[in-house]
This record gives sequence, structure tokens and C-alpha cells, in this order.
Amino acid sequence: MKASYFNFFINDHPEKGQVLILNTRTQAIAVFEKELADILQNNSGKVIDLDENKFSELLEEGFCIKDDICEKDILESWFHEICYKQKNITATILTTYNCNFACPYCFEGSATNKPENMTKKTMNNICKWLFTKAIDINAKSINIFFYGGEPLLNKEIIDNISPRIYSFCKHKGITFKFGIVTNGYLIKKQDSDYWKTYGLDFYRITLDGSKTWHNKTRPLKGNMPTFQTIVNNIRSNTSGVKVLISGNYTKETSTGFYELIEYLSKSDIKEKIHSLSFTPVIKTLASSCRSEHGLCEVNNDVELNQIYLDIKKFYKKHGFKDSRKNISMQTCPFKINDTNITMTPDGCIYKCPATIGHKEFSVGNVKEIHLNDKNKEIITSDLWKECYPCVYLPICSGGCYYSSYVKEGHFPAIDCQKTFIEKSLTNDLKEEYASSI
Ligand code: SF4
Ligand code: SF4
Repeated sequence: MKASYFNFFINDHPEKGQVLILNTRTQAIAVFEKELADILQNNSGKVIDLDENKFSELLEEGFCIKDDICEKDILESWFHEICYKQKNITATILTTYNCNFACPYCFEGSATNKPENMTKKTMNNICKWLFTKAIDINAKSINIFFYGGEPLLNKEIIDNISPRIYSFCKHKGITFKFGIVTNGYLIKKQDSDYWKTYGLDFYRITLDGSKTWHNKTRPLKGNMPTFQTIVNNIRSNTSGVKVLISGNYTKETSTGFYELIEYLSKSDIKEKIHSLSFTPVIKTLASSCRSEHGLCEVNNDVELNQIYLDIKKFYKKHGFKDSRKNISMQTCPFKINDTNITMTPDGCIYKCPATIGHKEFSVGNVKEIHLNDKNKEIITSDLWKECYPCVYLPICSGGCYYSSYVKEGHFPAIDCQKTFIEKSLTNDLKEEYASSI
């Protein structure tokens, strides 16, 4: 048998002389004695002299593969499955580009010059698109994220879409859940109660640091503070709905996040908070933006990446969970055919939310069920093959295309963040292992 290319090793962990190994393709985790781990590590991709019967578990878990199997072929068919054979539809729907806040880093304001609410006609097309797609692929689940601008400024769309998808899914035996990514200022109890009956699962609310910091970076238009109202809304208006807190830091504002975590850990709303996730403000085509998906927390800046790891460690120490799965497989929508999409108020379909409003990245319109040639060009580029056999491929699948465009102007192209992934994966794997024993 051969040692897998996708074994990731942490030496002398959990004990000296032991090695913690994750197979990034199968997600199997196990502790090995150093002698055996060395054989796997020194012979990555090569035939090793071990008895298949005695070490059958290595084959079962994917730490090793049979001699006649090519791991590149396995990976290719696995990426193909993820790209074309998903049974789960994930759609981010922007109800509006409008926002009641005036955050200096916001990309929505720069993405479009005209504030625009979604119309009923577009909303109907979205429902039709989703229903057609769900029937077409025999979907098992539909997950919707309402987004903006500030999505609650056009909440009629949520009022209307959620019962329609709920009824459709109930009738077809499809699981349906939705979340609302909001600044939290306009959350009302009666809305939460109404939407809960149609599948509202969570609010993802942005707090950019403690009161002082947040009020500076996330004021209302007209420069009024917002922190206290958001906290009051979390306390009184979110009963039975998960509250995920996220935030976007820069080197200058990161101190405020430690203060926020300390504040939340002592606050009466602590029990209401499901999980936290803080990521850097990232550079975008027009200005800068919130990072929301998959590998999006990855950044070229070593200092920002270290801050990411430090803040995460700090909130875990204070008893908060992470909103993102510790070790996740590739989820970037650029590498998924048409089941992970973002729909804007004008009905355009995008892949990565950071590109919304930039028509050159649009892959279709909800008036048409089929996506355009741009989509075909992106998903058939198979850039991951250039990375093979990088151990991080199953997680990263060739990096962030969007980031490479912003930095180099090439699209789609690879933006490799190996150093950060290695550091982050080491921390996550240790935690994952500790929580499993
Ligand atoms: S292209 Fe990059 S920023 Fe966009 S969704 Fe994928 S990983 Fe995230
Ligand atoms: S982009 Fe870098 S880390 Fe990601 S799979 Fe390619 S070589 Fe590996």
C-alpha cells in the first residue's frame, strides 16, 4: 500500500513521542506512535512496506491507499461530486442594497451607486429559480441567507419568500432553514416570532468591538451610536433564534474585539449567543469588505492572520464557540456549479459575495435557470490540478480566486495561503482532537 499525500502531521502531540495525524481528504484523525508516523511522513505518495492485513485500518481511514489507486483520480471525482452533484442548495439573497448604517469599510455602498430594493417580480423569479433547481437536482435541503445592505430594510421580501419556500419544501420533503445576516438594529420580536414558524434558524449580527469601538465603526447614518440598541434587541427580540456574532477587525481596531469578548462573557446576553466569528476586513475591487465564506478569513497579511488566531483563542478561553466548523472541506462557491449562489436585488446571480455589483463577475440572472458561460469557464478551470499533491488541497482547493483577482488582476487564478492554513489547521486539529476524547 501507499502512504496518502493528504496526511497532515503534528509531531509530539498529544504526548511526546506521539504524532497526531489528520487525513485532509477523509477527515480521519488518529494518534500514531512516532515510528509508524515517520514511515507515513517520509513516504508520502510512495509504496510502503506494511502488511495490508495487519494495518487494514490505515486503508479504511485513508491514511494509506492501495498501490493501484491514484489519489489524484479520487480527488478529481470528489471535487466533481462537490461541484456538480450537490443535493443541498445554498442561496444568499440580498433583499436590498440600502443600509441604515454608515460603516467606513462597507463594500455594498461602493458596489452600486443607486440604492435598490428587490421588487416583487424579482422575488417571484427567485422562488421560481429555486423551486426549479430543487426539483431538477432532487434537493435534500435548501438554506437561505438573507443579506444586504441591511436585509431588514426590505423585510417584506423575507415575509413573502420564507413561507413560500417553507411550504414548497414541506410539500416535497425538503429540509428548509434560513438565517439573516443583519446589523441587528431593526430586529423586532414580532418578526422573529413570525419568521421562526417558517424556518428562521439564526441571526448573524455584526459587532465591531466593544461599545466605544463599535459605535465608531458602525454608526447609524447621521453618526448616531448603535451598540446599545443591538444588545437590547439581542436580549429581548431573538427568543428561540440562534444569535451568531461576527465582526471585522483591522490592525487598528483589534483591541476592541478583546474588550467585546470580555464584555459579552460578563453580560446577561452571554447565554443567548450561539457562537462567534471575527475576521479581517479584506481588500475588495472597490474598497474593502466583510469576509463571510469558507476560506475568506485567509489573508496575505501575517499580522492580521495572527490576530485572527489570537482573537479566536481568546473567545474560546472565555467559553464561546466558533461559528465556523473547525476543519471544513472546500466550500468556496466559485468551485460549485450552481447550488451555492448569491442573488442581488436586481436578480443577478453571483458566486462570491465579495464580487456582488460588479457585473463582470455575474454568472446569470434569476430570469434564466441556466447560468452563463462565465460560470462554465470558472468551474472548468480546474486550477486545483496545479496544486496537486498539496496536503491542503481538500480544504483549500486552489485558494481564493477573488483574492487573486484583487491582488494580481488575474481571474480565476490561485492565491496560495499555505503558511496561514498550516498554522490555523494545527490549532484547529489540536482542538478537534481534544474535544473528541
Ligand atoms: S472566492 Fe474567496 S472570498 Fe470569495 S467565497 Fe471563495 S474563498 Fe471566499
Ligand atoms: S493554493 Fe496553496 S495551500 Fe491551497 S491547495 Fe494550492 S498549493 Fe495548497
